Amino acid sequence: MVFETVGQPLRAVERAAPEPGPGQLLVHVDACAVCRTDLHLMDGEVEISHPPRILGHQIVGTVESSGRRVGVPWLGWTDGECEYCRSGRENLCPNARFTGRDIDGGFAEYAVADERYCFPIPESYTSEQAAPLLCAGLIGYRALRMCGDARRIGFYGFGDSAHILVQVCRWQGRGVYAFTRAGDEEKQRFARELGAVWAGGSDESPPESLEAAIIFAPVGPLVPAALRALAPGGVVVCAGIHMSDIPAFPYSILWQERSIRSVANLTRADGAEMLALAPQVPVRARVSTYALENANDALEDLRAGRLSGAAVVVP
Ligand SMILES: [Zn+2]
Ligand SMILES: [Zn+2]
Repeated sequence: MVFETVGQPLRAVERAAPEPGPGQLLVHVDACAVCRTDLHLMDGEVEISHPPRILGHQIVGTVESSGRRVGVPWLGWTDGECEYCRSGRENLCPNARFTGRDIDGGFAEYAVADERYCFPIPESYTSEQAAPLLCAGLIGYRALRMCGDARRIGFYGFGDSAHILVQVCRWQGRGVYAFTRAGDEEKQRFARELGAVWAGGSDESPPESLEAAIIFAPVGPLVPAALRALAPGGVVVCAGIHMSDIPAFPYSILWQERSIRSVANLTRADGAEMLALAPQVPVRARVSTYALENANDALEDLRAGRLSGAAVVVP
């Protein structure tokens, strides 16, 4: 399923399986989860510089040569030489290549991936269950780490990433306050079911002030809303790759050492840490599966907010 032009659905195309180069694995795709970033790419909010491109960066597949199961994440390649790579921040490498943006991804029967950026998949997970861990889980986990030791954390937007992280937070003994679109009682019920201590609309105030907030929804006005819910010293972490403009707000809601930061991409260390932790919790992703040729339906269901949990495409 190929991206050709901004604003158009993916198109089914017959192609020969890709050839792996040196250090690369040919992976038979077993499952590939859908991410909001895929919508940003299709809408042109994040640029694909060399279309056509196969999207999909949460791949679980079987290596053709060995039968081993691997996960292929968003971070597909880095130069290993720049100041970021040499200081444990390969997620910021200016020459990084990303799966499903710069390298063909997993909405296909086969993909090729640099072995050094692939992860082993915990045995207790099916491929469908494991796929959403690879971005919703891994980058979400990086965002959670940016919350430090916060005990009361607000989640703004309760989609694929939040539904995984709420399970991690509960296991760590932290309280999650889930904010959804005003009136979305189904999502609020879903959040409580998975362990949120409180759920309500993003126009509501939480019953206690928050020590941290993660913004998952690509909605700029949520940033001042979250700041207003934050205790002094708290942090607002923006977890997405794209967000609508953040409206102006009074300095008083940032004052008292509140901060705002973003989280970009992932390092391989983030991935190893989260994939070791997931089976201990154990994290159980709620997945809706779609046949490969119906990948556009999965993307549209995500766009419309019709999913509870994550969408996974299965070739
Ligand atoms: Zn993603
Ligand atoms: Zn680098």
